[in-house]
Parts: sequence; structure tokens; C-alpha cells
Amino acid sequence: MKNFIILFSLVVCFSAKAQDYPRVVTPGNGAEPPSDAIILFDGKSFSEWEKAGGGDVQWKLADKAMTVVKGAGSIQTKKSFGDIQLHIEWRIPANVSGEGQNKGNSGIHIQNWYEIQILDSYQNLNKTYVDGTAGSIYTQSAPLVNACRKAGEWQTYDIIYMAPRFNSDQTLEIPARITVLHNGVLIQNNFIIKGTTYNKSGYKPHDKLPLQLQDHGNAVSFRNIWVREL
Ligand code: MG
Repeated sequence: MKNFIILFSLVVCFSAKAQDYPRVVTPGNGAEPPSDAIILFDGKSFSEWEKAGGGDVQWKLADKAMTVVKGAGSIQTKKSFGDIQLHIEWRIPANVSGEGQNKGNSGIHIQNWYEIQILDSYQNLNKTYVDGTAGSIYTQSAPLVNACRKAGEWQTYDIIYMAPRFNSDQTLEIPARITVLHNGVLIQNNFIIKGTTYNKSGYKPHDKLPLQLQDHGNAVSFRNIWVREL
């Protein structure tokens, strides 16, 4: 009887443990997305995108990349997201001109409101305000280090973003937090976002929202964009 109880306990214990194993995700080879990723751009079409505010995307699609066309407007995902892991690759044209905020400027607006800056900030040669350089949470947080590659080369952002939470009376419960790796280097470490990028007074309550890519008038390209919902 004693042996039976021990055996029974072991079986119960093992079964409970088995149920606690994490869900299996198959990692991608090289730059390929993991098995549970939502592919937002695979180089073939704008099917997951629309013009911000509605309408077809008017950006250029070539060489498995999409490129900002000046004046065509920012674009956004058709899907809305909350907490995410995002992988995105971007490239500033090798022949980039301009200076300051007009040199290779674009950006990734998570949930429409929170911009991670894209700019030609290679080796800090392009002078501008530090919380407006590449990898900054625009006007809120400069990157911890400058991990930029030079214009003409592909670069990566890997972003972990936790959306803000709002109370039923629309007040802020928990602010958004963001971690960013630039070309594999940690540049934002669980930064607590102070509010929407262009509204210094703080947050506006919202639910899930699209991801937006900025048309700042510079021909920045994007490729290999995928997201995992957390
Ligand atoms: Mg920008």
C-alpha cells in the first residue's frame, strides 16, 4: 500500500509538471521568423498594410523591401496590437543627404503613439538632439549606446513592448514599457514611456492599435518585419 501511494504521488506529480511545460516555439533559421510569428512584411506585398488613416500604400516595393516615397504618407498595419515582440529591419539610403532630423529620418510608431526613432546617427556624425537620434524613444529617452551601422547597410531593431493599461475611468493604471536591441545591442532597457510622443501631457487612453511606419520625407527602406503577440 505504501509503495502504491508513493507511485501514485509520483504519477500525479509528473502529470502536473508536464502540464506546466511552456508552449513550444520553433526558432527560425538565421533571419527567419519563429513559428508563432505574425508576418507583417515578407518582401512580396503590402497585404498587411494600409496608408495611415486609410487607403492603399503608395510606397515603393522592390528587391524584397518597401521604401518610403516622400509625401505618400505614413503606413500602418491592418491589425492592431497590444504587448508585442517585434523584429524589423531598416536601411537608410547610401546616398542620404540632409542634416539633423532631415537625414534618413523615419520611425516605428508602436500603437500609433510611441516612436522609436530611425535616423542616420552613424558614429554621432549627424548632429541633433540626443533624444532624437536613432534608437531613441523620440524626445523621451536617448539610446544607452550608439550601435548604428552606416547608411546603405541593413540594420535591425528587436523590440519588446508592454502596452499601457488604463483604469475604467480612463486614468493611467500602468505606463508602457519598452526594451530595444539595435543590431543585437541593448539600447533601451525596460524604459518606462512617459506618454504619447507628440503629447507632452502624458497618455491618452487606448486599446490595441496598429503599428505605424513613418514617412518623414526620406527614402528609408524596410524588410523582414514580424511580430509575436505576448
Ligand atoms: Mg522619426
